[in-house]
Amino acid sequence: MTAHSPRSVVILGGGAIGLCCARYLRAEGLNVTLVERGEPGMGCSWGNAGMVTPSHFVPLAAPGMVAKGLRWMFDPESPFYIRPRAEMGLLSWLWHFNRAATKTRVERAMPLLRDLMAESLRLFRELGPLDFGLEEKGLAIYFNSEKDRKGCVHEAEMAHRIGIEARVLDADQAQELEPDVALKVLGGVFYPGDAQLDPGRFNAAMAVDLSAKGVRFLRVEVRGFHGSKGCLRALRTDQGEVDADIFVLAAGSWSGALAKELGLSLPLQPGKGYSFDYAEPPFALRHPTILSEARVAITPIGKRLRIAGTLELAGLDLSINPRRVEAIRKAVPRYLEVDLPPAPAPLWAGLRPCSPDGLPFIGPFAKVPNLIAATGHAMLGITLAPVTGRLVADLVAGREPLVAVDLLSPDRY
Ligand SMILES: Cc1cc2nc3c(=O)[nH]c(=O)nc-3n(C[C@H](O)[C@H](O)[C@H](O)COP(=O)(O)OP(=O)(O)OC[C@H]3O[C@@H](n4cnc5c(N)ncnc54)[C@H](O)[C@@H]3O)c2cc1C
Repeated sequence: MTAHSPRSVVILGGGAIGLCCARYLRAEGLNVTLVERGEPGMGCSWGNAGMVTPSHFVPLAAPGMVAKGLRWMFDPESPFYIRPRAEMGLLSWLWHFNRAATKTRVERAMPLLRDLMAESLRLFRELGPLDFGLEEKGLAIYFNSEKDRKGCVHEAEMAHRIGIEARVLDADQAQELEPDVALKVLGGVFYPGDAQLDPGRFNAAMAVDLSAKGVRFLRVEVRGFHGSKGCLRALRTDQGEVDADIFVLAAGSWSGALAKELGLSLPLQPGKGYSFDYAEPPFALRHPTILSEARVAITPIGKRLRIAGTLELAGLDLSINPRRVEAIRKAVPRYLEVDLPPAPAPLWAGLRPCSPDGLPFIGPFAKVPNLIAATGHAMLGITLAPVTGRLVADLVAGREPLVAVDLLSPDRY
């Protein structure tokens, strides 16, 4: 599709998305170079909740989110927070988000997300010989307000409609699911088809495996591009040029600024979230869990317990706001009968690359066809990493991708 029989590919960004692109492009027999300014996998792909979530078939831009966002905007402890600022990029993103948050757009996105997530989980199983702690125990979402019960049950009904199994639980059934800790919830929904992994181990295992398979890793910072007439020739980095036939833009939240260097518009907002790990968990959970109203995720990862949450639109800023971290910690005892010690150091922050409609950008840019976008996965970047790599490899190889990628085009804005 992009160039005649491309032989070499350079991937910009070594997060879960870049690593998975490298995996499937290398399997096509291409010479693959992965360009990353830090350690691969240490960006947003590191401290996330590690959930692989077919249950998240409703994109972030859904009806009701705009009203919620506006209400939460003035609450610095809310799960979704927009740092007020008059910035054109943010204002235009919010405008597109609002336009995408309709029933029709969401219904159109749902089966696509379902198919992508099902294929990604299948690919995770295939990658299984690598040791990254893949466990398929399902995921529970708990609510403790009548309003959220309605929302969660409605979503469970939508799940059924598109063929995703979801079991609505009353308080007793929820407690049966988690016999080791006392719950204080009205009920929940259990998604048996969800999975979890250790994201740090996933990235590390992928990087080692890719090196063994002949992928070249370059520790450089990309500063710009060289090319002409809509064809990229090389990356400009702090240590010289890196050329290739095809380029994959997988630089997470920094992808928008890099696209801009080429005069391309890729509306992305970094959605900051935090996590912290209890090495000695103060309580035991058997399943990855989401606390619905608080939007807090709790994942038992090996012997550790990871607690993650918040989505803060505050620009490319990785600073840690202790008040928001504390809001995550304080949410837990509202659902579980536990006394939670202060969040242990090190606190972690990551920037989710958020597109306005909650769908990733995967595909070539019309104006620069040998540049392929692979970013914008927001809260689904781990879940969708393998299938993203697979789709990018299909596109480069000129094969019909397994899902129609029109809705994912980077030119859709
Ligand atoms: C709190 C939290 C919890 C989450 N939980 C989940 C979850 O449970 N399940 C799930 O599916 N997703 C989850 N996510 C989302 C997921 O972590 C992200 O979608 C995913 O990590 C994005 O991967 P990426 O490869 O696009 O970006 P990143 O991992 O950020 O990688 C981008 C890389 O590009 C590099 N880079 C950028 N610019 C340059 C440059 N100029 N030169 C060289 N290198 C560059 C960066 O250094 C970085 O390593 C969560 C996110 C957060 C914050």
